[in-house]
Amino acid sequence: MNIILLGPPGAGKGTQAKRLETGRGMIQLSTGDMLRAAVAAGTELGKQAQKVMDAGNLVSDDLMIGLISERLDQDDTKGGFILDGFPRTTAQAQALDEMLEQKGLVLDYVIELRVDDAALVRRIVGRYTCARCGQGYHDEFQKPKVEGVCDACGSTEFKRRADDNAETVTSRLEAYHRQTAPIIPYYEKEGKLKTVDGMAEIDEVTREIEAILG
Ligand code: ADP
Ligand code: ADP
Ligand code: ZN
Repeated sequence: MNIILLGPPGAGKGTQAKRLETGRGMIQLSTGDMLRAAVAAGTELGKQAQKVMDAGNLVSDDLMIGLISERLDQDDTKGGFILDGFPRTTAQAQALDEMLEQKGLVLDYVIELRVDDAALVRRIVGRYTCARCGQGYHDEFQKPKVEGVCDACGSTEFKRRADDNAETVTSRLEAYHRQTAPIIPYYEKEGKLKTVDGMAEIDEVTREIEAILG
C-alpha cells in the first residue's frame, strides 16, 4: 500500500508515519528529513535549502520533485511507502501523479490530518526528537516514560529543529494554507482523500488511520 499523509506542520504526520512503519513494514519518505540530512551533510542541495527552511518557506518544486523521484526508485519502497511532507504544492501533486504512472506505482489513499492552527503552534514549539534514533517527543503531549531517556533506544540526548520556533511557525502555517491546502480538492476529485481528526489523541488518530487502511 502507498499513501500520502497530508497536513499542516505539527499535524502529526511524522508521528503516525513512524507507527505505520513499525506496524505495517511500510517506509516513511519524509522530504523534511531528507532536506535536514542534506543540510547536515553540507551538500549543494543542503546549502540551497537551508535559508529557505529557516525562513519557513518552501524549497523549489524542481528540487523537491527530483529528490522524491530518485527516492522512489530505491528498492526499500517496494513494500509500500508513506509520503510525509510531499506533495506540498499543486505542481508537486501533478508531477507525483506523472512519476507514479511512469514508474508503474499506484497511490492508494491520501490521508488528511486536520488540526486547528492554535494547536499546531503549541505542538511545534514543544516538539523534540531523540538525537540517536529520531523518536519524536513533545514537552507536554508525548513525554518519554523516564524523564530524559529515550523510550526507544535509551539515549539521553535530544534535539530540536532550528525552524521549530514561534517566529518561523507563522510563515510555515501561511505557506500551508496558501500553497498546500489547495491540493486537497485535487485528491478529493481523484476519490483518494480520507480526512481524519488530527485533534484527537495520538493513539486515537492511529486507530482511525488503521481503520482506513484496513
Ligand atoms: P508533523 O510531522 O506533521 O510536522 P509531528 O508528528 O512531528 O508533526 O508532531 C508534532 C508534535 O506534536 C510532536 O512533538 C508530537 O509528539 C506531537 N503530536 C503528534 N500528534 C499529536 C496528537 N494527536 N496530539 C498531541 N500531540 C501530538
Ligand atoms: P513539518 O512537518 O513541520 O511541516 P517538514 O519537516 O515536512 O516540516 O519540512 C520542513 C521544511 O522543509 C519546510 O518548512 C520546507 O521549507 C521544506 N520542505 C519539506 N518538504 C517540502 C516540499 N515537499 N516542498 C517544499 N519544501 C519542503
Ligand atoms: Zn532514541
